[in-house]
Amino acid sequence: MAPASSLNTIRSEEIFDAAQALMPGGVNSPVRAFRSVIGKPIVFDHVKGSSVWDADGNRYIDYVGSWGPAICGHARAEVIGALHEALDRGTSFGAPCLLENTLAEMVIEAVPSVEKVRFVNSGTEACMAALRLIRAFTGRDKLIKFEGCYHGHADTFLVKAGSGVATLGLPDSPGVPRSATASTLTAPYNDLEAVKALFTDHQDQIAGVILEPVVGNAGFIPPDAGFLEGLRELTRDQGSLLVFDEVMTGFRIAYGGAQARFGVTPDLTTMGKVIGGGLPVGAYGGRADVMAMVAPEGPMYQAGTLSGNPLAMTAGIATLELLQRAGAYDHLETVTRRLVAGILEAGREVGLPVSGGSISGMFGFFFRDQPVRNFADAREADHERFGRLHRAMLERGVYLAPSGFEAGFTSLAHSDNDIDTTLEAFRESFAEIA
Ligand SMILES: *Cc1c(COP(=O)(O)O)cnc(C)c1O
Repeated sequence: MAPASSLNTIRSEEIFDAAQALMPGGVNSPVRAFRSVIGKPIVFDHVKGSSVWDADGNRYIDYVGSWGPAICGHARAEVIGALHEALDRGTSFGAPCLLENTLAEMVIEAVPSVEKVRFVNSGTEACMAALRLIRAFTGRDKLIKFEGCYHGHADTFLVKAGSGVATLGLPDSPGVPRSATASTLTAPYNDLEAVKALFTDHQDQIAGVILEPVVGNAGFIPPDAGFLEGLRELTRDQGSLLVFDEVMTGFRIAYGGAQARFGVTPDLTTMGKVIGGGLPVGAYGGRADVMAMVAPEGPMYQAGTLSGNPLAMTAGIATLELLQRAGAYDHLETVTRRLVAGILEAGREVGLPVSGGSISGMFGFFFRDQPVRNFADAREADHERFGRLHRAMLERGVYLAPSGFEAGFTSLAHSDNDIDTTLEAFRESFAEIA
């Protein structure tokens, strides 16, 4: 076994130490703070392709991809080029522009459930609006969500909300009034019977069911066969709406999202991450009759100063164009499968219990011998060991998400060579932490 290089991160540490006096915990989003792994956060300097470089000049092969948007690889020439051109026409219009039509057409064409779409600025915003919309449309208040699923940081969703909250060990957040979560019902993921029981107990009160069709915010958890279909049937029977939160899975699991991959069409879909191509964008869309409730077509108010921003639309369009190219999803599927097969193999070699899987460019693994089907299973994995693995991988030039409750992402820029290098790092790291 090669000895771990001792990574020089002096500059990262200086910058992060200064940041702690300036921003809560030194970050602008909690999981970035490395609280559940070893060491201080790596401060990035620049990114390109499958790589990121830190403030000390170290290079890492990246499996976070800015938490999803970088599906074509970081700073892809076509996206950056389109942004340069758009920049000269101005950074914000606050008025309709043709780019909005173009991206809307692309989303409507790609995503089976979407007949009309509204762009916003983040996944959080998209989910907040979708919640208001299902309530407005049904005249009901209650919502079913699943343990470990994350739908952004709006009050109503901050119940058993997965990665960020789980990583920090917060039960629910202070500052969220009881009244905001009183109408949030939760069920274990992949447990259709639990959902049926909630519908029985709250007859005619449930506006809708929201879920990550493939979970990424409690680690990677795919739906059991029949789970999505069962929810579709149940919500239809109950006069309730089905919402797929595809902020992570949209344009990643397949060009048309998880709903295209699994052939289950929800009433509404929320999107983000990939559709902004690295700029801040979210979107919600779905059935035309439901979207007709949204102002100014209908009475449900929702607005945004920067929504439909020309730079953000441009980056989204350029990204989706790259994903339309032949072979894009085959590449994601192939490299990611190879990666996960290699991780599981490396675990077996040293007798470490590892389970995991992938779909397209989304993957995950847990230190647990049984497959993970829900959040309770995910919690049982050895997260202390994950923390040590994370550090060992950083020292070998591989950047994994700094929490065992996060899915990993590959991109079109990840090469066979990257996977070879990464698997060598896994073999060495597993041997070190076994
Ligand atoms: C990231 C994410 C969100 C929140 O999106 P932000 O852009 O961070 O507000 C919501 N839902 C899912 C499934 C996500 O992965």
